[in-house]
Amino acid sequence: MIANSHDLLDRATLIHQQTDLAAYQDTGGTIMKHGEGVYVFDEAGNKYLEAMAGLWCASLGFSEKRLAEVAYKQMLELPYYHTFFAKSHVPSVELADRLLAIAPKGMSKVMFQCSGSEANDAAIKIIWYYNNALGRPQKKKIIGRVRGYHGNTVASVSVSGQPHMHADFDAPLAMFKHTDNPHYYRFHEDGETEEAFSTRMADNLEKLILAEGPDTVAAFFAEPVQGGGGAITPPAGYFEKIQAVLKKYDVLFLADEVICGFGRTGNMWGSETYDLRPDLVSCAKALSASYQPISALMISDKIYEAMVSESKKLGTFGHGFTYGGHPVACAVASETLKIYEERDIIGHVRKVGPLLQQGLKDLEAHPLVGNARGVGLIAGVELMADKAKRIPFAPELKAGIQVMEECHKVGLIVRAIGDRIAFTPPLVISAGEIDELLAKFRKGLDAALPRLMPA
Ligand code: PMP
Repeated sequence: MIANSHDLLDRATLIHQQTDLAAYQDTGGTIMKHGEGVYVFDEAGNKYLEAMAGLWCASLGFSEKRLAEVAYKQMLELPYYHTFFAKSHVPSVELADRLLAIAPKGMSKVMFQCSGSEANDAAIKIIWYYNNALGRPQKKKIIGRVRGYHGNTVASVSVSGQPHMHADFDAPLAMFKHTDNPHYYRFHEDGETEEAFSTRMADNLEKLILAEGPDTVAAFFAEPVQGGGGAITPPAGYFEKIQAVLKKYDVLFLADEVICGFGRTGNMWGSETYDLRPDLVSCAKALSASYQPISALMISDKIYEAMVSESKKLGTFGHGFTYGGHPVACAVASETLKIYEERDIIGHVRKVGPLLQQGLKDLEAHPLVGNARGVGLIAGVELMADKAKRIPFAPELKAGIQVMEECHKVGLIVRAIGDRIAFTPPLVISAGEIDELLAKFRKGLDAALPRLMPA
């Protein structure tokens, strides 16, 4: 195959993920070449401030040499090993110890996989295994939330609540149910307070559990801040009320910390920020600053003990992936956690996060912006056709995409999720770079304004 540029070769060869395949054949995309700090550069040399850290993940930016050096060293020492059949290796043991030392309260064991999807998929299997071990094989249903995002394997996409990831994929599987999206700004009734809205959300969860039968419901999955649903922070009182319902019906709680983990919300875990007491925790992305693909599933003792007792009966815990806990990925993740500690990444997020949040809040004065809300270094900005009446833009206008494309033209990468613009810059972003991000975002909004609101 001969092609004059990577763009043509790309279109001729690659199946793109989460992409409009038909449109892509005509338009092509942007091919990135290298990275430096919070910036990436495309093949033509254009520079972009990466306000999404890639896919909410490149927490240390795009040029952290220490991670490259650790990977190289590990490849020379032991490039591959596994944890099947009573084998282990030093990087996985060291990472397990380091991670559990900072884990959310109650987590006592960890298993490594390659992606957030795999961690959540493994969690679902372990939840089923656990209930089989306890002799209640009917308690298997998993509840997710509308617009929740937990991955793309058959099971993790089923607990996710993204309509475009279900349509035509025969998802979700029958054992998966969904409760409300806690997006207060969009879905509260006139005059309804956040607390009252949260009570309604918890009541609806309880109604769902009762309708399904509590003895059939095994677990509830939630992200502390909903990422792929639009960077949606929970309304006041939400998790407190939800957790009370889960406890009442003996339903396990998995906190999906794939985006929120490792400082994103201004604490090590979103679970700390929102006082969650999960039975299982999944994490990935910032675990290795995304320099290597790795995820972790952490579980509490009560689940691990049941697994051990079941495995005694069966002989083997029959789950595992060839690359789960890959030594190079584990070594890079351990180094990442060391860097977070040395550089006090949480202190940094607490310092610069409010600059991003306040800057976006100030943009509520812009004609296109209905609401800006976030925590730490994650935020969502809701575009609205009529803010006073909370009327969204007509979907065919693709307001979010228009703003995202205008931002791209001025060298800013953001993500449009419907008409919500998401921000999760690398955690190392400086105050000056946040100013630049905000100025570029304003330019993007201004450029889209005449088309979205013609005078
Ligand atoms: N959980 C959450 C909260 C996520 O945001 C994502 C990915 N964006 C996943 C799970 C799935 O992770 P992965 O793409 O690594 O499979």
